[in-house]
Amino acid sequence: MIKVEQLHKYFGDLHVLKGVDLDVAPQEVVVMIGASGSGKSTLLRCLNFLEMKDDGRILIDGEEVDPATTPLNKVREHVGMVFQHFNLFPHMTVLENVIEAPVHVKKTPKAEAIKQGQALLEKVGLGDKGDVYPEKLSGGQKQRVAIARALAMEPSVMLFDEPTSALDPELVGEVLEVMKGLAADGMTMVVVTHEMGFAREVADRVVFLDSGQIAEQGDPETFFEKPQHPKARQFLSRVL
Ligand code: ADP
Ligand code: MG
Repeated sequence: MIKVEQLHKYFGDLHVLKGVDLDVAPQEVVVMIGASGSGKSTLLRCLNFLEMKDDGRILIDGEEVDPATTPLNKVREHVGMVFQHFNLFPHMTVLENVIEAPVHVKKTPKAEAIKQGQALLEKVGLGDKGDVYPEKLSGGQKQRVAIARALAMEPSVMLFDEPTSALDPELVGEVLEVMKGLAADGMTMVVVTHEMGFAREVADRVVFLDSGQIAEQGDPETFFEKPQHPKARQFLSRVL
């Protein structure tokens, strides 16, 4: 579904991604972990072309995406992204937030978008909140709306960048439950998170990023029980 080959990214003189290779199979859930500043967000943002790589190749659905020749709006339709901060449009109701991109980017007829949007809100447990403005919602509810909004474009891959890090602890679970449901439905997902319980339970593979390189990866059981790389051991001893 996603193939990354020798990806390099610089911010000025700062070499942030140093030759990352990553394959994500259809329906695979990859959880990416690593210390703050290791390049996790930059990698996700490169996959969604919010940042442009400096070198290497990115293939989505088997096709190389070259920002010079590929219309990025088309690519972004296939790659949904959920951020730490939900970035909902405050002047739109929940349902309007969810149908905005299908109607305006994808040109889905409005009646159809509303029907799909309502179904998505029900899927994330917010079927009764369509007419409410985001300010009336809790952080966990806002993040679930953000997930529904990303799903509304019917992406083939979902990227999550610390989706629960800005939430009060008691609201984390409801968002993780929605993500678990998506994984169970067979969504292909790359998730950056500090929720190690989620990683153990839901990930097919854990990828540990250290200073812009994948230092270690493996199935969650092996990774958490027997981390090999010294930096991975050090990281786990701090977060577990
Ligand atoms: P992580 O998500 O793992 O915490 P990031 O990908 O956000 O790491 O950042 C990796 C490194 O790149 C950090 O040193 C960060 O300061 C730097 N960085 C990230 N975005 C920018 C930017 N837009 N301009 C300059 N430096 C950046
Ligand atoms: Mg980050």
